[in-house]
Amino acid sequence: MLDCAGQKIIAQEAYLNSLDAALGDGDHGITMRLGFQAIAAALNELDPQTGLDVIFRKAGMSFMGGTGGAIGVIFGKMLMSGAGPLHGVQQFGTAEFKIVLREMELAIISTGKAKVGDKTILDAVHAANQAMLDSDPQDQDLGSAVSKAAKAAEKAAQDTAGMICRVGRASRLGARALGCPDPGAVSFGIILGAMADWLAETGPTA
Ligand SMILES: [Mg+2]
Repeated sequence: MLDCAGQKIIAQEAYLNSLDAALGDGDHGITMRLGFQAIAAALNELDPQTGLDVIFRKAGMSFMGGTGGAIGVIFGKMLMSGAGPLHGVQQFGTAEFKIVLREMELAIISTGKAKVGDKTILDAVHAANQAMLDSDPQDQDLGSAVSKAAKAAEKAAQDTAGMICRVGRASRLGARALGCPDPGAVSFGIILGAMADWLAETGPTA
């Protein structure tokens, strides 16, 4: 799933750069590509039996090491935050997905100063978590859970176009930030969307 997410992110590099160019320095697509290339290289070296905690920790560390800037640290920490609660876990199911999403939101809040509505990646992650809280707890199908979370994250990412940046360099833009979605939030939507597509095409691994 991470490999598939990386491929979809890399395919959107120019689009993500263009979103960042409207709000910042235009390198978001490059950063995400470098991070996911570093993840792919690190995961390639892992034994197929590696536990999920090691996968998330390695993915987060390599993303952080392969990139710079705030999003490198934030997305790296988001991935690493999944490691703790998945210690000893080998299979990624609906319960694990919900745990990781929740940990990711907490990691963003503890790393940055952003709050929901500040036009950051947090808006997309928060919406995905809300969608999970609102979903039927009896529905344990991973594909439908990820699909719901992805749709919520994608919508929330587009909704950030109507927000003013309240944290980071782009906060200086004021109302000029209106009309452009936050690139980090868009990236998170792409990642969950890629995971949902992968699950729909391949199905969860046994
Ligand atoms: Mg940038």
